[in-house]
Amino acid sequence: MRAANVTQQINVFQLVKQLSIVEVINRYSIVELKQRGRRWTARCPLHNDHSPSFVVFPNGKWKCFGCGEHGDGVDLVAKIFNLELIEAARMIARDFNIEAKKPLSPAARRKIIQQAKKREKERILREKLDKAHETLSLLVRTINKSLAAGGYKSHCDLAGLLHKVDYYEYLIECLLSNNAEIQIMALNSFNRDFSLGGRFTNESNP
Ligand SMILES: [Zn+2]
Repeated sequence: MRAANVTQQINVFQLVKQLSIVEVINRYSIVELKQRGRRWTARCPLHNDHSPSFVVFPNGKWKCFGCGEHGDGVDLVAKIFNLELIEAARMIARDFNIEAKKPLSPAARRKIIQQAKKREKERILREKLDKAHETLSLLVRTINKSLAAGGYKSHCDLAGLLHKVDYYEYLIECLLSNNAEIQIMALNSFNRDFSLGGRFTNESNP
């Protein structure tokens, strides 16, 4: 590597370091941060996180207490968009209009667009999983309440309701699985049972 390149890389990392990591995260819609005192938290964008394990500290570093990943703003953007650190730093520098002498290569640009599409698809899936989970949990609570209050007409009716609760609880468990295929299978069953239509597939290329 030529000396000029090395200097340029150091420059771009130094430039990007001066930005607020919160602004960087928001700029790329990486996660929705919630402020908790001097920290920010969110559901981790790097693993299937059911609770907010992802923490951003006032010093500009972040750490996920679920999957253990950690780093600074450049590390995060690199991981999210599957870029080399230098590519991520250059992209940030360019998007924040701070000096970046060398533009992104077409291949890096394509990679960013593909990753953004993939993330959007994942975001939609997560939203649908949350919604299905919420609906099923509510149904289970409602049926259980009704059962506790003796709200069934016959043994047959009771058996039917118990079966429903079992089935919904099974779907909920699948929705919370760490395996995307199981989650999608449960989501499709839910959509079919509740006539919501729309089938999800697990293809990486939309
Ligand atoms: Zn994580």
